[in-house]
Amino acid sequence: MKIFCIGKNYAAHAKEMNSEVPSKPMVFMKPSTALLNNNKPFYYPEFTTNIHYEVEVVLKISKNGKHIKSKFASDYFEEIGLGIDFTARDVQSECKKKGHPWEIAKAFDHSAVIGSKFIPVEGLDLNNLEFSLTRNGQVVQKGNTKDLIYNFETIISYISTIFTLKITDLIMTGTPEGVGPVEIGDELVGYLGDVKMFECRVK
Ligand code: MG
Repeated sequence: MKIFCIGKNYAAHAKEMNSEVPSKPMVFMKPSTALLNNNKPFYYPEFTTNIHYEVEVVLKISKNGKHIKSKFASDYFEEIGLGIDFTARDVQSECKKKGHPWEIAKAFDHSAVIGSKFIPVEGLDLNNLEFSLTRNGQVVQKGNTKDLIYNFETIISYISTIFTLKITDLIMTGTPEGVGPVEIGDELVGYLGDVKMFECRVK
């Protein structure tokens, strides 16, 4: 199982990171050891002092494929979920400054919170899905897939020109604006519309 992530896929988030909107989907990956599911707690790692939450809609790949055309991409996922792309922002800034790869900031153990709940896409308007994250009961991020720069079909098509997509692979599709730091003791809860998709306690 592979976890793909798309960076800077909402213009307002790219702006808050002082970044340009990328001219094609910006893809990076997390290994299977990054997965944190079943509402398990996240233990704040020692190598960073600035972990940020990034709530993201997650696609669960349901069919193997390579070189998938956009018009067929919707055949490759049947369910969507929600998760957090935990990011060691301090480490990421260092990596960016030096032009280094950023796995140590993005792909560390348990950096991919994935809610265990997945919702069938049938009947959903995938181009108008609201989602949000609360931190200790306060809404900190609110997004809508209508603001995606690269929609789900484009992402799947693009990734599949480079990597073979396999059943059970996950794609984290990018975070809206409002990212921020977590602290030990925080309770993070993700919602797709009004449906609670995951909770995560920071320990
Ligand atoms: Mg992200």
